[in-house]
Amino acid sequence: RPCRALPLTCRVERTFTAIKPDAVNRGLIGEIITRFERKGYKLVGLKLVRPTQPLAETHYAELASKPFYPSLVQFLCSGPVVAMCWEGKDVVRTARKMLGATNPLESDPSTIRGAYAIDVGRNVVHSSDAVSTAEREIALWFRPEELVEWAPTSLQWIYE
Ligand code: UDP
Repeated sequence: RPCRALPLTCRVERTFTAIKPDAVNRGLIGEIITRFERKGYKLVGLKLVRPTQPLAETHYAELASKPFYPSLVQFLCSGPVVAMCWEGKDVVRTARKMLGATNPLESDPSTIRGAYAIDVGRNVVHSSDAVSTAEREIALWFRPEELVEWAPTSLQWIYE
């Protein structure tokens, strides 16, 4: 649903981003949120969740045939996850670039995974890999009323 109060450019896309239990335990919540805030993206959903096994299984359903799937699901359920919905121009693709490669050792050190992680199974963050995936994941993790329509006063200084 387009928000008519906002410039078109700021409401074009949303993504689902999650701070995984390793990062929550390591005290990296603030560092990770700060990167998205400073980029200029708008936070429209935020909550701390202890995922159930069915939620984790559904979230990673596309990977169900992979050998690492059981440990991945177990890991996601092993502690709190910060579930976020970020909004802005090209946010799905750009968030993936900000995360870096899936394997942190292959990630550029300027990325979140490159800066804060070493092992692939402890790579601190998730972000949707496509617009269609984002729609599915946002609907999985958030109820519609948990997503907030608002207009940051900074928008005119971020979008031309
Ligand atoms: N993963 C893993 N071992 C692998 C590949 C992936 O433990 O060999 C984990 C890793 O934490 C990754 C998640 O599974 O973030 C989902 O994998 P995907 O290929 O979707 O990577 P992502 O989209 O998270 O970069």
